[in-house]
Parts: sequence; structure tokens; C-alpha cells
Amino acid sequence: MLPRQLIAEEYPDAVQVKDFAAYLKEQTGHPCKIGIEAALAGWGLSEQHLSILLYHMENLGWIQQLERRREGWEFTLTALPPAMYQTLYDAIYRRREKRYDRLEEIKRWVQSVKCRREAIGSYFSQSHTGALAFCCDRCGIDYAFYEKKETDVQAPAQEWNWEDELDVLLPLA
Ligand SMILES: [Zn+2]
Repeated sequence: MLPRQLIAEEYPDAVQVKDFAAYLKEQTGHPCKIGIEAALAGWGLSEQHLSILLYHMENLGWIQQLERRREGWEFTLTALPPAMYQTLYDAIYRRREKRYDRLEEIKRWVQSVKCRREAIGSYFSQSHTGALAFCCDRCGIDYAFYEKKETDVQAPAQEWNWEDELDVLLPLA
């Protein structure tokens, strides 16, 4: 599956945020209980979606005493602002965009023709000094050096796929 799609599915969409916010508006001032199953049935929110929504609401200071119970969440709603939906959606949207940006950075790195070490070094604000005999796939590697050692290893002839590689590096499940 595409990494971008995996990221998108982690976050609730605009309609879900809107419906959830509308429901909570009616509960202002009351202790609230939201069951995992009820969230899925009521708003199509997965367990992760619900956690993300409540995390941001707590961060924004709208809910207190947020506690995870066996079958759901309990909390007290304090002050919900009039533009609650928009503020909440913006917070979630910003977070998702950051994840997309990071994904794009990795894609650029994978597809770049520049030295791998130099690119990673500049990311961590370090300068790449000195050439290495076996630097990276971009600078040139003497594959014969590795092949000699792997002659008796039966490696499957698989084509390298950056998306598979990315799933290993950044598991999103
Ligand atoms: Zn290099």
C-alpha cells in the first residue's frame, strides 16, 4: 500500500471531526464517556482516530481528566469554543501535513542522485568529510566486494522497491 494512503487513514476526515465535535457540543459541562465500539458505530471513528481527536482536544485545553478505560474513554468537557470544529480540524490537519512532509523528504532522499551520507549528514547538520572507499550506492560501491562473500548465499533475485523499503523503515501500523 502507498505510504501516503497509510498516513491519511490514520487521521479522521473532515466529516468525522465535524460530527464528533457537534455531538460533544451538546455534552458541555458533563462527564463524558465514549466507547470504542460506539465511536466506530456512531462516527466511523477507529480507535486510533478517537485517540487522536481526544489527544488534540486535551492539548487545546477543552477536556480534562482524560482517562482510558477498558472499553473506551472518560473525560470532562470544560470550555468548548464556538469554532471548535475548525480549530480541531486545523490541529489534526497540520499534524498530518507534517507527516506528509517527512514522507516527501524520504522519497527525495531515496530518489536523489546525491551521496547518501552527505544527504543524511546535512539533515543532521553535519558535514560529510572525506571520501570513503565504499561510500554509498550513489558514490559507487564495488559490488564485487560483497558478491565474493555471498557466493554461497541463495539470495532471491528481487527488484528493489523503495515503497517496501519505506514500510520497513517507517512502519505505520
Ligand atoms: Zn556517498
